[in-house]
Amino acid sequence: NNIGEEVFHITTETPEQTMKLAENLAHYLQEGNLILLEGDLGAGKTTFTKGLAKGLGVTRNVNSPTFTIIKEYQGEKLPLYHMDVYRLGESMEDLGFDEYFEGNGVTVVEWAHLIEDQLPLSRLEIELYHREGDKREICLKAKGSQYIDLCKEFIKDENISN
Ligand code: ADP
Ligand code: MG
Repeated sequence: NNIGEEVFHITTETPEQTMKLAENLAHYLQEGNLILLEGDLGAGKTTFTKGLAKGLGVTRNVNSPTFTIIKEYQGEKLPLYHMDVYRLGESMEDLGFDEYFEGNGVTVVEWAHLIEDQLPLSRLEIELYHREGDKREICLKAKGSQYIDLCKEFIKDENISN
């Protein structure tokens, strides 16, 4: 496929910074948006999701949905559908993901590569990498013009040089 793609790099030094970054990003999101989170265990996928939730106006505590696969949260701004498909493994089980992607919230998927075949191509992929100490390199990989525009605006407003 030849869907456009652009990548932006950000480094955070603390979990609070990662949460704040995600919280700020949430303000640029709209209903139906899809975010895929990739990274090793402990890289910060759930921490990032907590920040996103805060930015969407979710007041409930967000924790890793490892045992439920999908959790829904009501947000002041938008609902959040938080998926952690790690436990699905490569089983390719279809839990009606489309309903969420086409729903009126923001969907966040941890370990998304496990359900790659079921995912729309237009999306924001976020990869988190461990760096020295508490540093994390966060790569925003925007796929499709909607997400490219969204990221450009976000990065500009955050004053991050790419
Ligand atoms: P994952 O969901 O990717 O397995 P978690 O978000 O559950 O990861 O855990 C990340 C852990 O790393 C947390 O304990 C968090 O406090 C810690 N941490 C340290 N530095 C950072 C950072 N810069 N960004 C995010 N998390 C960090
Ligand atoms: Mg997690």
